[in-house]
Amino acid sequence: MPDLVIRGDAQDIAIENGKIVAIGPELPGAAKEIDARGLHVFPGLIDVHLHFNEPGRTEWEGAATGSRALAAGGGTLFFDMPLNSTPCTVNAAAFDRKREALAQSSITDFALWGGLIPGNVTEMAELADRGVVGFKAFLCDSGLPEFPRADDLTLFDGLREAARLGLPVAVHAESQEITQGLARRIRPEQRGSIRAFLESRPVLAEIEAIQRATLLAREAGAKLHIVHVSSGRGVAIAAEARARGVDVSIETCPHYLFFTEDDVERLGAVAKCAPPLRDAVEQAALWTQLLAGVIDIVASDHSPAPPYMKSGDFAQAWGGIAGVQSTLSVLLDRGYYCRGLSLERISSLVAAEPARRFRIQSKGSIAIGMDADLALVNISRSTTLESQHLMQRHALSPYIGASFRGCVERTIRRGETVFASGEITARSGGQFVRPFLS
Ligand SMILES: [Zn+2]
Repeated sequence: MPDLVIRGDAQDIAIENGKIVAIGPELPGAAKEIDARGLHVFPGLIDVHLHFNEPGRTEWEGAATGSRALAAGGGTLFFDMPLNSTPCTVNAAAFDRKREALAQSSITDFALWGGLIPGNVTEMAELADRGVVGFKAFLCDSGLPEFPRADDLTLFDGLREAARLGLPVAVHAESQEITQGLARRIRPEQRGSIRAFLESRPVLAEIEAIQRATLLAREAGAKLHIVHVSSGRGVAIAAEARARGVDVSIETCPHYLFFTEDDVERLGAVAKCAPPLRDAVEQAALWTQLLAGVIDIVASDHSPAPPYMKSGDFAQAWGGIAGVQSTLSVLLDRGYYCRGLSLERISSLVAAEPARRFRIQSKGSIAIGMDADLALVNISRSTTLESQHLMQRHALSPYIGASFRGCVERTIRRGETVFASGEITARSGGQFVRPFLS
C-alpha cells in the first residue's frame, strides 16, 4: 500500500518510499491523503543557479534559510554555485566541506557546481568524481578576489577537460575588457550613479562574451551553459551558435523578465545585479525568445547579501538579486497570465529541462518511478509578496510589494511535505544529488 495519495481533479498520484508508484483516476486509498483538487501539480522546481554561500558566508544566507525560501517557492532541488561560499568549490576538499555542510542544513535536495579558475584545471577530474553537475567560470571579475576570472586560455583548457569528463561548463558571459574599460571611464562625480553603472555593462559586453565562449566550446567539443542571459540579443547570439552545432544551453532569470533598468533607478541597490537589468525594448526581446522556445532554463541566480552591503554607495553595493522564492510566481503572472506562456512550458523551464540538461535522472517530471518532488499550486489565487513571507535570511528582495497571480500551496520533497499553507514543515532531510554519467 502506498504511503500517500494525492487526490487531483482528473488524476491521483500514489507515493511510496518517496517515489511515484501510480498515476491515474481514483487510485485506492492510503494511510495519508492530500486533497489537491482545484490545484495544479507541477514537478518540484530545480533551481540550477543560486548562491547559498555555505560554508563560510552563512551570515549572507546559508542553506538552512535559503532552502526554506526555495521550498516556499515550490522548489525541491538546487544547484549551488562554487562561490560565494568559503572556501570556493574549486577542489575536492572544498567540495567535501560544502557537501557535508549542506547535508546538515538543507531541507531540499542539492547538487553542487565546481569552479573553473586559473590554475585549477588539474582539480576538475576529482571534482567530477565527487559528482559536480559542471564547472562555472567567470569571463569578467566575479566580485570576489578568491574566485578570479578565467582568461581565454584557462577557459579553453577547462572546456577541453570538461568535455573529456562529460560535463558542461557554465559561463558568466560579460567581457572584462569592455566592462572594466567603461567602468574606468566613469568620471569621479558620476561614481555611485545608477545610470553610470548600467552604462558600464552594456549588452555589447554580454554578446561579445557569449560569442567568444561558444567559439571556444565548439573548438573544445564541450557542452556550454550560458547563465543569466539578460538580453534578447544575447539569446540570439547563443542560438546562432547552437544552429552551427555548438552544444549550448541558455538560461535566463526571473528578474530580467520582471524588472527593467527603470526599476533599478526606482529601487536602488536591491535591484543591482550583473549583467544589469535592461531597458524595456531588450526585455521584450527576451520575452520573445522565451515564448519562441529558444531559452532552455529559468533559474533564480539568488545572490543574497546582508543589508549593510546593499545600502549606501550604489557603486560599492553588492551586485546580486535575492529572488529564490519568486521564480514560479514571475513565470505564472508575467508569463502564463500576461503572455500566454503555457503551464507545460513553465514546468519544462524550471524542472524537466534542468533535469535533462544536467542528467539528474530521477527528477524533473511527474511519472512513475520518479522522485515524488511536487509543487501544488493554486494558479488563480493572487498574493502580494510581503517581507514577512520571505523565508530567506535577510528580507531583502526587489519583489517585495509585487502582486502575483499564482500561489504555491504545498511543496513535497520525495513524498514529504516541506512547505504548506505558508509554513515550513521540515527541519532537514535534503540529500546530495549527482548527475548520471554513462
Ligand atoms: Zn550567480
